[in-house]
Amino acid sequence: MSIDFTRLALPGVQDLQPYQPGKPISELERELGISNIIKLASNENPLGTSAKALAAMADAVDQLCLYPDASGYQLKQKLAAKHTVKPEQITLGNGSNDVLVLLAEAFLCVQSRPVMSQYCFAVYPIATQAAGATPVMVDALPKNHPSMPLGHDLEAMLAAVDEHSKLVFIANPNNPTGSQLSSDDLRNFLQSVPPGQIVVVDEAYTEYASDDNYPDASQWLDEFPNLVVTRTFSKAYGLAGLRVGYALSNPEIADILNRIRQPFNVNSMALAAAEAALDDQAFIQLSCDVNSAGLDYLSAELSQLGFTPLPSAGNFVLVDMGEPAERWYQALLKTGIITRRVANYGLPDHLRITIGTEAQNQRLIGSLHDLRQTG
Ligand SMILES: *Cc1c(COP(=O)(O)O)cnc(C)c1O
Repeated sequence: MSIDFTRLALPGVQDLQPYQPGKPISELERELGISNIIKLASNENPLGTSAKALAAMADAVDQLCLYPDASGYQLKQKLAAKHTVKPEQITLGNGSNDVLVLLAEAFLCVQSRPVMSQYCFAVYPIATQAAGATPVMVDALPKNHPSMPLGHDLEAMLAAVDEHSKLVFIANPNNPTGSQLSSDDLRNFLQSVPPGQIVVVDEAYTEYASDDNYPDASQWLDEFPNLVVTRTFSKAYGLAGLRVGYALSNPEIADILNRIRQPFNVNSMALAAAEAALDDQAFIQLSCDVNSAGLDYLSAELSQLGFTPLPSAGNFVLVDMGEPAERWYQALLKTGIITRRVANYGLPDHLRITIGTEAQNQRLIGSLHDLRQTG
């Protein structure tokens, strides 16, 4: 008798699709037998990794036979100073993805109805459904909204919050839309949410958000005990391959997360590299400068070519291709450029394109220009 193992899984897991990552360069190399491929698909830092972080990793190689410091003492000290919080307010994770999963595991059950926005980061529904909960997807703002097309509708999200929510997820800036909430709007939201419901503000792209009116929610932790802020070393810090991120919260929430995390969830290379990366703010500044020039260039050129790039506060741009984007995705692949399809987000006409180096951006625009000519 054959057993249907899918039926044995949690109902929420039965309905899940796996996270769809950007196509790895090595895979396209194998498929097309070409080299010189560029990947503008996963919002990685096109400048690579800070030289200081690389040097720290080389030093850490000697210690690989030992378990890492399970408490992440040194890294927490540095992060505490950076954010003016206590080390007890920090939860380190194997990428910020890990802390998002820990939050779901610790706070959700089958009765929970965590609130998130349409076009939110795909990990929120995955992590919450895997914990048995039923996500409440709140309609995003319309695509013709003047400042935040497809962005979070905070009023509607607030209306969706009740005692079953437990967790509310807000990405600022949001991926894949690039939309950004102002300080006033986010503060008003935090003031209005019932204090027994936890609000997770995911600041994975915060380093890139240059607008003066952009909030650093970590400064509000004392005021809002139900606030959790997540950060990552994967994006501006250029350490996506190492997997390290963290949550900032009140100490009680951090204590809860600490009870269920894997004891050694952040490896020793990642700890060493993250510490050193924090000391290299010149690298972050350069990354942001290259990004903002690239974003301006790409937005202008994409519009020129007849596409519709959305405003973005991150290191990527969501582009309305004006027709099903699959054809453009495939055509770009053949020229050795990997972008990101977002049909799984309900956006079949859009591509998400990571801002690259100046040369990479020019190559992308050149390819799109040629493809436009050949129809
Ligand atoms: C990339 C990203 C993350 C970070 O993921 P890591 O697990 O830290 O690599 C978190 N949130 C959003 C919205 C992202 O786009």
